[in-house]
Amino acid sequence: MCGTLRPSDAGKKAVLMGWVNRRRDLGQIIFVDLRDRTGITQVVFNYELNAAVHQKAEELRNEYVIAAIGTVKKRDADTINPNIPTGEVELVAEELRILNVSKQLPFLPSDFVLANEEMRLKYRYIDLRRDPMQFNIELRHKVALAIRDNLASQGFFEIETPFMTRSTPEGARDYLVPSRVQPGSFYALPQSPQLFKQILMISGFDKYFQIVRCFRDEDLRADRQPEFTQIDLEMSYPQPDRVWEVVEGFLTAAFKAAGHEIKTPFPRMDYDDAIRQYGVDKPDLRLPAFTDVRDCFTPNDLEQLAINKDLPVIAIRTPGVGELSRKERDDVKPLFVSKGGARVFEDFKRIENKFPDAAERIREKVRGGYLSSIAEEELAKQAGEKPGDDLIVLVVGSVPSGRDGHPAGKRKVTPAELAIYASAGILRVALAQKYADRHGIFKKSGDPDKDYRFLWVTNFPMFEYDEGERRWVAAHHPFTSPHDEDMDKLETDPAMVRARAYDVVLNGTELGSGSIRIHRQDIQRRIFHALGMTEEEARSRFGFFLEALEYGTPPHGGIALGLDRIVMILAGADSLREVIPFPKTAAAKDLMCEAPTPVAEGQLRELGIGIVLKR
Ligand code: ASP
Repeated sequence: MCGTLRPSDAGKKAVLMGWVNRRRDLGQIIFVDLRDRTGITQVVFNYELNAAVHQKAEELRNEYVIAAIGTVKKRDADTINPNIPTGEVELVAEELRILNVSKQLPFLPSDFVLANEEMRLKYRYIDLRRDPMQFNIELRHKVALAIRDNLASQGFFEIETPFMTRSTPEGARDYLVPSRVQPGSFYALPQSPQLFKQILMISGFDKYFQIVRCFRDEDLRADRQPEFTQIDLEMSYPQPDRVWEVVEGFLTAAFKAAGHEIKTPFPRMDYDDAIRQYGVDKPDLRLPAFTDVRDCFTPNDLEQLAINKDLPVIAIRTPGVGELSRKERDDVKPLFVSKGGARVFEDFKRIENKFPDAAERIREKVRGGYLSSIAEEELAKQAGEKPGDDLIVLVVGSVPSGRDGHPAGKRKVTPAELAIYASAGILRVALAQKYADRHGIFKKSGDPDKDYRFLWVTNFPMFEYDEGERRWVAAHHPFTSPHDEDMDKLETDPAMVRARAYDVVLNGTELGSGSIRIHRQDIQRRIFHALGMTEEEARSRFGFFLEALEYGTPPHGGIALGLDRIVMILAGADSLREVIPFPKTAAAKDLMCEAPTPVAEGQLRELGIGIVLKR
């Protein structure tokens, strides 16, 4: 095969089949780089050695498919190509068969400059021939295989669940499939196999997994696709840490397949702590946590600066960025998304000038807080950081907060505080992204401990308050079990109920989420009720499931992780489209086969469907 020839093959006959990646015609000699999945070998057509074959090689053009038969030869020292594994050898052609020709291509797999993405997606089959895409798809295969093997070795069965089903709520819109034999009725493509996997526990398959496609009709972002692949699993009788152990096991195997040794167990963090320290429930641990520097100001300072003294004063430290110029400070402003009246002080110099004592205390506290961990101190030293290199930006609450009496007002992190933390959390990541070149934290160091910062986030609130609808909604999904000790607050104080839910996070990306489930019908009913669902509604949507729960359901729990995201991170890609063979655009279109399309009148008639487009 094209990528496997080595000097030890010298003198052997070989038959290589593949695509003409590049052709250089030097007159008497024609070189062809022949490419297949395994790589590239140089094939030489020499007029003096074989005039007929040389003549035929003159017909070759980019991406013709050929068979070259010849003898492997070591290259002369001065013609060795150190950049490819086969660079020390070449195939001297004795016979050439043109297996197929190719039209002129819209772009070449060998091009160094990438075609625009629309072109790449329209001609995906050509794009997939490119080296990086071949690498990504192979990586995806290896990672999926490692996960399958690992879960099988942990005693899990891979069990399929239906694609044509009834919708289960995961918070997005369903893709619907009309039924021809039941006109007017629809299947839904599964947003996840949630209820089926729970039912498999009721059915006695106590360890289930599936690498499975899920479908959600959402507005797309860079890290979303309408159909995506989950590593979905469920098990009977677990405590959360048993589920985590299983996940850590298969992630270790997956990362190993990609050449990285990761350490387990992953650290764990309460949702409330994640919010207080990072302003999000999926913190990127590669960057420093926040510091609350409220106590560095005197009450008088706070008043002069019109800072709400009852809310946290968050210092965001971005190492290695240094002071910003005036123009750069202006660029920071649009990065700030203010929630609940949060304000930003991007000009720390100004604070230093007007409130030198407070500024000094802030610098000390911010630095001190960060260096409290020995590992981080070591990292900072290695990076040659000096305190003066820190960019410090403050996020504060305005006066007054005016959010008293909110239904979640008694939470450890109140809604008013949450607004400040969340605003600061968004800014922390935006700053780090904007100045990535200066701090270099996102660059891969080759040390998996630094490059891949995993985290379990646990103890989420069970309910979130939907301000628009003025009601409580499930923060995870409605099959998630509340903490036993919070059960008595279900009806009286839903804000304070914690869920037995957990997320696994990597470098600020949520890889997956799961929970211990409700396994008792009476509790499931109470949850539906707390979510404002009437008995009839619950029965009409989930009657089959509520009934199943009544026939001896074992306690169970599970999780689902995004395979696409894992591969994207391992491939160092910046979009899911780089690791999905046939992805869709942000407008949910497949540009290659041009889906979706209108369908023939007759097809619709058969389904009993008439279309009235509302504009
Ligand atoms: N079905 C859930 C999801 O897709 C995951 C789980 O709870 O297992 O997010």
